[in-house]
Amino acid sequence: MSDTEADRHREKMEKRKAVQDAEVAEKTIEKGLLIVNTGPGKGKTTAALGLMVRALGRGWRVGMVQFIKGAWDTGEKHAFAAFGDRIDWHTLGEGFTWETQDKARDIAAAEQAWAKALDLMADPRIRLVVLDELNIALRYDYLPLADVVAALQARRPDLHVVVTGRNAKPALIEAADLVTEMGSVKHHFAAGVKAQEGIEF
Ligand code: ATP
Ligand code: MG
Repeated sequence: MSDTEADRHREKMEKRKAVQDAEVAEKTIEKGLLIVNTGPGKGKTTAALGLMVRALGRGWRVGMVQFIKGAWDTGEKHAFAAFGDRIDWHTLGEGFTWETQDKARDIAAAEQAWAKALDLMADPRIRLVVLDELNIALRYDYLPLADVVAALQARRPDLHVVVTGRNAKPALIEAADLVTEMGSVKHHFAAGVKAQEGIEF
């Protein structure tokens, strides 16, 4: 690389850094975020679990309520058990709706899970709460949408809440600070590959 080339690169990077620093300096608000992971692609729950790891790494106490996956024995449940009382883990859903085939039971399970979610959100020691597959309970109208969104919006100013599940309701998306839509480019199920231990559960 010639000297002039190196100089030009340095000048360009100096300018870029100035722009970057100015942009960072503009952002001054601290707040507990309402985060929604939705969309048809894989990664909604695993991204939420990743945030739990990040929060635990900061010494925080975190909560998890699983609204649907009750019947499954998941790897994450075993992994997080190692964190002891820094994790408040609750599996209340009884499994997928097409497995229980009993609407009244599904609604009762969703209501129980939501009551637990409210408990965790009210616990001042907890800084992050994941409400896994809450979107599914809302999609089937197992819980009153307006009440749920209002409670999420009324969370403590320093509490982060992550909601996962396909088909997030527009009212929830509207209320959220951060919404990520996982897109499905390719999924191994389509090629006949079954759910893989350690990857899917
Ligand atoms: P994960 O828990 O792996 O992050 P997810 O939370 O994004 O997945 P869910 O909608 O909760 O996905 O579905 C749970 C299961 O469905 C997972 O085992 C996942 O691999 C599978 N799945 C996710 N996306 C697809 C897809 N596009 N096609 C088929 N199966 C999928
Ligand atoms: Mg999921």
